[in-house]
Parts: sequence; structure tokens; C-alpha cells
Amino acid sequence: MAELMDWSNLGFGYHKTDYNVRCYYRDGKWGEIEVCSEETIPLHMAATCLHYGQEAFEGLKAYRCPDGKVRVFRPDENAARLQSTCRGILMPEVPTELFIEMVKKVVRLNERFIPPYESGATLYVRPLMIGTSAQVGVHPSQEYLFLILVTPVGPYFKGGFASNPYVIIREHDRSAPLGTGIYKVGGNYAASLLANKKAHDKGYACEFYLDAKEKKYIDECGAANFFGIKDNTYVTPKSTSILPSITNKSLMQLAEDFGLKVERRQIPEEELSTFEEAGACGTAAVISPISYIDDLETGKRYDFGEEPGPVSRKLFEHLRGIQYGIEEDKHGWTMVVID
Ligand SMILES: *Cc1c(COP(=O)(O)O)cnc(C)c1O
Repeated sequence: MAELMDWSNLGFGYHKTDYNVRCYYRDGKWGEIEVCSEETIPLHMAATCLHYGQEAFEGLKAYRCPDGKVRVFRPDENAARLQSTCRGILMPEVPTELFIEMVKKVVRLNERFIPPYESGATLYVRPLMIGTSAQVGVHPSQEYLFLILVTPVGPYFKGGFASNPYVIIREHDRSAPLGTGIYKVGGNYAASLLANKKAHDKGYACEFYLDAKEKKYIDECGAANFFGIKDNTYVTPKSTSILPSITNKSLMQLAEDFGLKVERRQIPEEELSTFEEAGACGTAAVISPISYIDDLETGKRYDFGEEPGPVSRKLFEHLRGIQYGIEEDKHGWTMVVID
């Protein structure tokens, strides 16, 4: 049988699949889950998602595993994070059970688009919530649409588990509004597009943010958290303006399981020069080792080497092993969606 797609050469982009799933919030309650094969949504031109940013998304992956099963990774964490965002921008919360039922349904319906294990590609699952009622005054919507689309994706950065250069661009700030619990809302990413373009134009893989207030401490890199390794310690920034990554949370646990010390604290920029290894982590990035970080304003370069370091590699392989059902999932992080 001909292959549905050239799985091994997939980038991180959108490909049409067979179905998406949708659920509408009307009259103060969630309706039935609807299965849809349309890629578009009918939307009022005055919908609050378009004018006032009542919009939030999430991201997780489904993995086709060597044992023939399909697993997703910590979907309850994505549901909880979306609920936090919903509270912050006055959208109704999507109950965890509804969220997970829709994840299962959309993955099963699109089974033929889940890339084979050997390809290294996965099925990216993208939940999206929008306010749909018309408002011209700044008020929350009455009605909402929660939908989940899926798309097969390859590695976020070309080359997969390979080191890439990053660049600090001081005139831009990271997204998460300070300490409000509002995460993955579109406006934040609109503001990052220019920083990302500047980084790419200069030949870097990704932009790197310092804290918005003092421009002294490390925040995060593009749409991934930062970690550094030194003296048998996993160090990751504590800041109210970085997104609480589920991948980072998992890596902190794995590092601890490996007997590393874990520190979550402010990291002054100069401390970068003391790390033996550095990496970016997230659902899309998995672990993307960092070869060096340039600070364009000071002309400083923080170098971590062209080759991924041993601790980053070990964390990467272990995390991947759990996600693919190869290694024991002793924290109960994976959920089998197709048996
Ligand atoms: C999604 C995201 C991350 C990674 O979070 P995960 O839960 O690990 O996928 C990191 N930073 C930003 C800005 C993000 O949007």
C-alpha cells in the first residue's frame, strides 16, 4: 500500500486530516461533542476572539508506539493549564473529562494520520477555544467554541536532536502576562513573531528572552522553556513571565529520578557561562540542545558546544522512552488512546 504521507520528511506544519471535534458552550452549558470534517469555522465578524483576544490554545502529541498502541502524554495537565487560562480571560472552563474525551475521539478518528513509530514524527493535537458572540464593548462573550484539530508533525527544528544557536533580543519580551495564570493566548504569540523573524534573519534557530522587568534574568526561548546543566544539577528559571511547560515539569522529575539536583530559581544572564549543557524543552521542541546563545547588545557568546551533552541526551531518551511506552511509566504520565 502506498504511504499516506512522506512521514520521515514532515516538518512542523499543518496538514489536512479527516476530522476535527467541536463542542459549543451556549446558555451557560457545554453541548454534545460534534465530529466535523470542515476545516473552517463560521464566525461573526464582531466575535470577541477577534477583537478582544478571548482565545486560548493548547498543544500535546499522540505517539504511535512500538507495542502497537497509541499514547498521549499528560493530557490532564493540558486541561488544567487551559482551565487556568479560561479563568484568567473570563471564558468558561472546559472540564477535564470533556477535554480528554475529545482528545481521545479526535485521535481515534484520525488514526490513519498518526505517523509510524520509525519515522520519528507524531500526531500533534491542538485544542482551541474561542469566544464567538458579537460584542463591540469590551465584554466577555456569551457563547464559546472549543475545538480540537490534529496534524501530523515532524521535528520542530530541522535535524531533530541536534544543537542549535539562539539569540537574546532585548527589545522583545516573553509572553505570559506577569503572574496572571493566562497561558497560550494568541496575542502573546503575535508579539513574538517579529522577535522570531529577527532571530531567523540573523541565522539563529530561535529567539531567547530575558525577564521583561529588569532584562537581567533568563526567561525562555521561543515557545520552549530553558534548562541548564552543571555540577550534576538541572537548573531552570523561576519567573512569572514564562509559560509553565509540562515537558519541563516532567524533566525536573526525571532529573530528580536520575539523582540530579533540581533548582528552579532566577538565573542571571551571566550564569549562562557556567553551564556545561543547555537546552530548550517543550512538547514541540521535546529537548532541543543549544549550541550557543549570543547577546547582540553586549556581544557576548555563551557556548555549550556543537554536540548535545550527555545529560541532555539521557533526559531526551528517557522522556521519549516513556512517551513511546518503551520505558516504565512509573509516574503514570501516559494515557493509551488506541489499544
Ligand atoms: C507551549 C509552550 C511551552 C512548552 O510547554 P509544554 O507544555 O512543554 O508543551 C513553553 N513556552 C511557551 C511560550 C509555550 O507556548
